[in-house]
Amino acid sequence: ANKIDEIKKAISSYPDFPIKGILFRDVFSVLRQPKIFGLLRDVMVEHAKQLQPPVQVVAALESRGFLFGPLIALELNVPFVPIRKKGKLPGMTRTVQYSLEYGQDAFEMQEDAVKQGDRVLIVDDLLATGGSMSASCSLVNAFGAEVAECFVVMELSDLNGRAKIAANVHSLIQYD
Ligand code: 5GP
Repeated sequence: ANKIDEIKKAISSYPDFPIKGILFRDVFSVLRQPKIFGLLRDVMVEHAKQLQPPVQVVAALESRGFLFGPLIALELNVPFVPIRKKGKLPGMTRTVQYSLEYGQDAFEMQEDAVKQGDRVLIVDDLLATGGSMSASCSLVNAFGAEVAECFVVMELSDLNGRAKIAANVHSLIQYD
């Protein structure tokens, strides 16, 4: 809990970014402080290592999920695979559409990224409405793979994004 408090203190908040009314939580401020970034890595890795049955693949969401997913995957000695916006990944891909406040978007993974039955840990920096994470779960499930857990550094609890997600959701830091 002490480590978590130190990490939380290191996260800067910016009112009215990127638009008026949003209080933006900037996880990059943690990466400026190697000691705190190290604490965050230790907490994430410790948590991921004790998941049972063990995680077989770590997937993370573009773009801030990419800061953390590979750190966890390396420590678990399992593959890291990216989840990206449509059109960014080469080769054969699988796509899932999701709704935004206005319109639609789509996420993709490479066809050979996960196999049927894989237990996949999905990583992102922050859970807000849960739209991105629930779309990522659908994508992983479309491969016949299982979501071991949705892991985020920060969760905006009031938005109750976790209610959209069937898999377990774990956050290190919560904001009301
Ligand atoms: P959701 O789909 O849950 O509504 O939004 C989550 C996505 O938006 C995540 O990929 C996250 O990176 C981004 N996001 C939304 N609000 C914030 C914020 O305050 N800080 C950061 N770092 N990311 C945010």
